[in-house]
Amino acid sequence: MTTVVERLRAELMAREPGKDAASQGVDSRNLREYNHLLVLNSVRLQGPLARVSIAQQTGLSKTTVSTIIDQLLQNGLVSEGDFIDAAATGGRRPILVHFNNDTALIMGIEITYSTLTLITTNLGGEVRSIYTEPFDFTSTPVSSLAMLGAAVRIFMAKSNLTWEHILGIGVGIGAPLDSRTHTLMYPPGEYSWDGIDIVASLMKQFQVPVYVDNNANLAALSEARYGVAKDYSDFAYISIGQGIGGGLIHDHQIYHGMLGGAGEIGHFHIAESGPQCICGKRGCLETLANNAAIVEDASLGRSLARVAPRARVAPQLADRDDIDINDVLHAADAGDLGARLALQSAGRAIGTAVGALITLLNPEVIILDGATVRMGRYLLDAVQEEAARQAMPANWAATHIITGQLGDLAVPLGAATLVIDAAFALASVISDYPGTVNGALG
Ligand SMILES: [Zn+2]
Repeated sequence: MTTVVERLRAELMAREPGKDAASQGVDSRNLREYNHLLVLNSVRLQGPLARVSIAQQTGLSKTTVSTIIDQLLQNGLVSEGDFIDAAATGGRRPILVHFNNDTALIMGIEITYSTLTLITTNLGGEVRSIYTEPFDFTSTPVSSLAMLGAAVRIFMAKSNLTWEHILGIGVGIGAPLDSRTHTLMYPPGEYSWDGIDIVASLMKQFQVPVYVDNNANLAALSEARYGVAKDYSDFAYISIGQGIGGGLIHDHQIYHGMLGGAGEIGHFHIAESGPQCICGKRGCLETLANNAAIVEDASLGRSLARVAPRARVAPQLADRDDIDINDVLHAADAGDLGARLALQSAGRAIGTAVGALITLLNPEVIILDGATVRMGRYLLDAVQEEAARQAMPANWAATHIITGQLGDLAVPLGAATLVIDAAFALASVISDYPGTVNGALG
């Protein structure tokens, strides 16, 4: 007999693979499916709830709700049990319906130029296992995809997982991605990825539904679902690291634009004759304010030379080629003027782009993320000052700049969320289903 995981997986496979939940939607002509979805998502997102509360929330009759709940109980996605509530004030306590988050596991993967992070989560986005390993994304497509496949198999073996546990795989990629064709717009190395559909390649390898998106979009999505932005429907997310990535959330969903290129704040044009960027232009924000640019500025004392031509660079950073962004952050904290000015210079460049974004989009919040933001105030203060100078005053006054909450888990968790969102936009998977559930997993 098929399990509910197999049934959900088959439904996802039958739809257009890799397409996100927001664009799939529900066939509202099928009222019965739609009602099932309303009830299931009400229990999943607001539960545990009594049947009477579900009826109130969904606007469905108590009879309809009860019929649907009875079907959901059979397939194991929900269970019913008395809820021990200390605040209960006597009388008959209603029996509450709970969503069973552990019915399935999802794999979330983050690909950066040099690292892979793999996690599993349950249907509630709770992380169950984590695995990281070095990766060479600048290698050929065939070799990169094979390395990814090998890492997935090692992770599953280490976590005692088999494919029957996995509902699907979400993948975050640290490069601009065409969301219509699942191809890289700007590959990370010198090899051509033209015509390589990442979703199709990975589905061929793993035989489960696969969803891909850009890393910054996914970090934005997980901050929206589980992190610092749970209470905001419209915001911008900017990560500062190896590159500078941006993601826009509109009405709780990723806003992709036409190609998937929306939110690419790293390619805002800032400096007329700045360094060459991977996108083909010169002077993009990323080339001026990513970690490498900050490290180079601090070690050469470039910003320092501008404000104090005779000043000497602090000895711990001058002319060293083995320092990284953490050395710069520590030097800034220890009072090194060259390191502080390098962080401030990057902060002003980011602030210019943030100011324009605030004027254009009037977001509720802007989330800044990455080591330079989490570990030090010099860059963040400069972003605030410059954005305040550049943004339309009324919009600026209404926007808060905050830092991300989920850290290294933000991208893989967002990747897993793509699968969860897609699964629960599918109404038909949960109706009329007589199958059994595999019980507890992992
Ligand atoms: Zn660029």
